[in-house]
Amino acid sequence: MNKNILLHACCAPCASASSKRLTDQGYAPVLIFANSNIFPHKEFQRRLDAAERLAEILNIPLVFSPWEHEAWLEQVMPWADEPEGGKRCEICFHWNLSTTAQKAAELGIQEFTTSLTISPHKSSETIFAAGRAFDGFREFNFKKQNGFAESIRLSRAFGLYRQDYCGCEFSIPHRSSSP
Ligand code: SF4
Repeated sequence: MNKNILLHACCAPCASASSKRLTDQGYAPVLIFANSNIFPHKEFQRRLDAAERLAEILNIPLVFSPWEHEAWLEQVMPWADEPEGGKRCEICFHWNLSTTAQKAAELGIQEFTTSLTISPHKSSETIFAAGRAFDGFREFNFKKQNGFAESIRLSRAFGLYRQDYCGCEFSIPHRSSSP
């Protein structure tokens, strides 16, 4: 039987190719949508709906964590003016991976990882550094072997919503530069 791994789905398109990569490596992924960074709430819901659709298509389980944007905002506010890729994003990665680690423990899943590394706009090393704070984190650099291009191909094939900004209110002025 394949081993479960909890995959933090930063969004459905990134999770599509990441899930496939994990399956190819003999894992049975379980998706978690834990993204309190996303603003506004209707955008969170839209991305969660897309993740639910992906889970249905791939026939894999999905769990999610509630939207705790106010608490997330409080953590990142000191770095509100940082450019994308700076300290604010490090805190953001840590927040979402902390939630994922807690959920993995609750579910009795020993390993977890994140689809965040598929984005060419995000440093995999910075994401790995955030994940190393938690037991069970596994380092998958999904952007390797054309992972991002594969995520675009799959999300088009599956008809998944693809957002044009990273997620938080600070990234909205930079639409089209992410994910
Ligand atoms: S730009 Fe993206 S990674 Fe950075 S804080 Fe905002 S949502 Fe998080």
